[in-house]
Amino acid sequence: MNTDILIIGSGPVGATYARLISESKPDAKILMIDAGPKISDKIGQHTKNISDQKAMEKAQILSQGPKKTPYPMISVAERAMAVQRGELSADVLARAGTHLVLDQIEDIKNNEMPSISMSTNIGGMGVHWTCACPTPGNGERIPIIPTHEMDESLAKAREILNVTQEAFPSSPESVTILNILNQTLGTNHSPNRQAQPMPLACKTDEVGNRYWTATDVILGVTMDNPNFEIRSDTICRKLNHENGKVIGAEIENIVSGEKETINAKIVIVAADPLRTPQLLWASNIRPKALGHYLNEHPFVFTFVELDKDLVKNYSQNRKVECDPSQIENRKSKDPTIGVFLVPFDAPNHPFHGQVMHMDFSPMKTTVSDDSKHIVGLGWGCLKESNFEDCIVFSESEKDYLGMPKMNFKFHYTENDLATIEAARVFQTKVVRLFGKEIKDGSQTVMPAGTSLHYEGTTRMGIENDGESVCNTHSQVWGFENLFVGGNGVIPIATASNPTLTSVALAVRSCEKIIELLR
Ligand SMILES: Cc1cc2nc3c(=O)[nH]c(=O)nc-3n(C[C@H](O)[C@H](O)[C@H](O)COP(=O)(O)OP(=O)(O)OC[C@H]3O[C@@H](n4cnc5c(N)ncnc54)[C@H](O)[C@@H]3O)c2cc1C
Repeated sequence: MNTDILIIGSGPVGATYARLISESKPDAKILMIDAGPKISDKIGQHTKNISDQKAMEKAQILSQGPKKTPYPMISVAERAMAVQRGELSADVLARAGTHLVLDQIEDIKNNEMPSISMSTNIGGMGVHWTCACPTPGNGERIPIIPTHEMDESLAKAREILNVTQEAFPSSPESVTILNILNQTLGTNHSPNRQAQPMPLACKTDEVGNRYWTATDVILGVTMDNPNFEIRSDTICRKLNHENGKVIGAEIENIVSGEKETINAKIVIVAADPLRTPQLLWASNIRPKALGHYLNEHPFVFTFVELDKDLVKNYSQNRKVECDPSQIENRKSKDPTIGVFLVPFDAPNHPFHGQVMHMDFSPMKTTVSDDSKHIVGLGWGCLKESNFEDCIVFSESEKDYLGMPKMNFKFHYTENDLATIEAARVFQTKVVRLFGKEIKDGSQTVMPAGTSLHYEGTTRMGIENDGESVCNTHSQVWGFENLFVGGNGVIPIATASNPTLTSVALAVRSCEKIIELLR
């Protein structure tokens, strides 16, 4: 088959490429493939938009690759204790909708990122994500892209993802939470970097229903373009290339076993930060930096119970607009009724605080029944980027889809451990102001891989000096028609959620691709 564009991977980044190219060149033939199945009636919709609980759980399980059963609900503390006892299993380490890269006990024990996971389905992890889209702060900006260019791309990314800070209505509890967070942060922060509602990729209708952004929203009218095709259960196993040009992509329908070679003018691999380098490696495209500089932000987590007296005190002297029917208005059984951000802002607050407000507990706790408001506090910190932190691809062993098996090298430096400790100390201050830490959810440094935000494995650079895989337009060094997308392209460590940045980098990359198509 001949096509103008082949996109491998149908998550938010692959979908952004499809949309922008289709908008600019509606005559261009675009084929988007994904190794995973279609998991809901509406192609690529967020699982939180599926109102039927059983259908939602089925969609999660269908995304879990070889793991065909649901994971048990366990508390953060139970998880941490099980890890400390060496009881490592997918049930302890993985999240619903994802599957561990290495799920056999022996493999998990030898893996320095035991929780490292992926999703295999139309829409990728982007149908399971929390949709948090904070703007990167001081110390998280990519220094090799001019600020004004990155700002333009970020603005376009926000538009594509429908980012809003008004997804959840205000309530006495949310006002209290924000006040406490700002009290801890103090006034020593950059402009607009105070604690605030989390920018979320979400649209609300006039009665407050939330519709979370995933591939369906990003693609929008692209789905109606007859030149656009999306295929599920279709894996790309190898890119054939000659003289710096991809000349054919070997794809296979996993269900039927049918194989085909796709001849595309331009190939975009947006197959997550693990499987994008895996495909390049399997295709014998192996720049020195491929799979290296693997990074994620270490994550310190805890749960607190929101003290009712605090809420009373805070809301007494203020008129807080609150319509309870709007707060309760949700389609799924997601307990979240608010998300807040304590922005990354080095050197003042060199962490990313993500705060989840819930009106029932997402886990087993000892919280008394009448104390319904629970706050989950996640503090992410920067981890130094090192060449030694990497994916190790096997020459002989295969994963469950028959691609080169991956293992992971990942360690914390002294500086990393000091940063984690500093985040812990800051978080403790916040907890003290809130009142009570929940015994079953006490402060825990989550096992490596927990963030689900993996970066650096196909990082961009300004020259082909062995330190990077692609240029700042995500074009693989030495190739005229091969591009890579996703969090792996981010060349520096970040503590905040990376999808907004990855979508912005795809926006930037599309400008180059559209120029090439002309
Ligand atoms: C529970 C959860 C919460 C999250 N919360 C947030 C958040 O709040 N904010 C944030 O920024 N990020 C969050 N993330 C991460 C976010 O979902 C990812 O950053 C985002 O989905 C990355 O998009 P992507 O398109 O690059 O990759 P993905 O969405 O991972 O999609 C990659 C796709 O490629 C396919 N693929 C892989 N290999 C091949 C191959 N060889 N051939 C064909 N197809 C292939 C996979 O099946 C997959 O569907 C969260 C993730 C999860 C799971």
